[in-house]
Amino acid sequence: MDRRHFISTGSVLLAAGSPVAWADDDKKKRTTRPAPSPTPTPTPTPGTIKNRVIVIGGGMAGATVAKYLRLWGNGIAVTLIERETSYVSNIMSSLVLSGQRTMASLTYNYSKLISTYGVTVVKGDVTEIDTTKLRVTVTSGTSKTFLDADRIVIAPGIDFEEVKGLGTSDRMPHAWKAGPQTTLLASQLAALPSNGTGSIILTIPKAPYRCPPGPYERACLIGDWLKAKKPGYVLTVLDANEKFKQKRTISSRPLQCMASSIFPIKRCLVSTPTR
Ligand SMILES: Cc1cc2nc3c(=O)[nH]c(=O)nc-3n(C[C@H](O)[C@H](O)[C@H](O)COP(=O)(O)OP(=O)(O)OC[C@H]3O[C@@H](n4cnc5c(N)ncnc54)[C@H](O)[C@@H]3O)c2cc1C
Repeated sequence: MDRRHFISTGSVLLAAGSPVAWADDDKKKRTTRPAPSPTPTPTPTPGTIKNRVIVIGGGMAGATVAKYLRLWGNGIAVTLIERETSYVSNIMSSLVLSGQRTMASLTYNYSKLISTYGVTVVKGDVTEIDTTKLRVTVTSGTSKTFLDADRIVIAPGIDFEEVKGLGTSDRMPHAWKAGPQTTLLASQLAALPSNGTGSIILTIPKAPYRCPPGPYERACLIGDWLKAKKPGYVLTVLDANEKFKQKRTISSRPLQCMASSIFPIKRCLVSTPTR
C-alpha cells in the first residue's frame, strides 16, 4: 500500500521510532526515567470499553506505544496489528556481518506484550483506514477483518525507496532492513577467499535516510573484520554526503575509524544522487 495514501486521511496519531529499547525488554532501557509499574491496568472486557486503541505496526515505535498505553492508560484496550509473527531489530544488525551477533539474538516475538501487558495482537496487513468510522481493514491472505477503534496510532515504519541497480538484488544485498538480506550479505562476505584480493563497495545515500550513522558504523565493522579475516580486501565507501552523519549522544569512534587509516577503508565522495 502506498504510504501517502495510507495516512492521507488520517486524523490519527503517528508514532516515531523509539531510540531506547524494544518494548519487551525493560532491562536494556537507557533512559533515566523511573521504571513503570510492571502491572498493567486490568484488561477490559471486549465490547464494554469506550477507549479502544488500535496500533498499526509492531516495530519499536508501535510495540512501545502499545506497552505504555496498557501500563499507563487506565484500562485502555489496545490492539496491535502487525504483519509479521516476529520482529527483527535493525539495531545491532551490522554485527551479524562481522559474526559478533546472530540473527536469532535480534529476533523478538510478541508473547510478552500479550501475556504481561494484556495487548491483543492481531497478525495481518492493514490495507485501509476509514478515519470517519475509525475502522481499520486487516487483510490476511484472502480474508478481510474490520476492527473499530476510538483512536488509531500509525507506526508502520518506512519502506525502501528503489535505487536503480540495487533494488532487492541478491547480488548486491543492501540489508537496510534486518532479515534475510543481512544473512545473505554476511554469507557473501564470509565466502570471500581468505587469501584473495579485491574491493568491496558500500554506498551511502544522500541524507535523509534511516539511521544516519548506520552506514559508517557498518563500514567500520566490515573494515575491522576484513583487516582480521580477509586482509587482501579494501572496503571502498561511496558517500553521497560531504559530512559524516553521527549520533550526538554516543561515541564518535566509528567516525574516527573512517577518517583514519587503521582499517582498509577508502572513502570517496560521490556527487551524483544515489537515491
Ligand atoms: C542497519 C540499521 C541500524 C540501525 N541502528 C540503530 C541504532 O543503533 N539505534 C537506533 O535508535 N536506531 C537504529 N536504526 C533505526 C531503527 O531501526 C528505526 O528507527 C526503527 O526501527 C523505527 O521503528 P518503527 O517502529 O518506526 O519502524 P519499524 O521498526 O520499521 O517497524 C514497523 C513495523 O510495522 C509493520 N508494518 C508496516 N506496515 C504494516 C501494515 N500495513 N500492516 C501491519 N503491519 C505493518 C512492519 O512489519 C514492522 O514490524 C537502525 C536502522 C538500520 C537500518
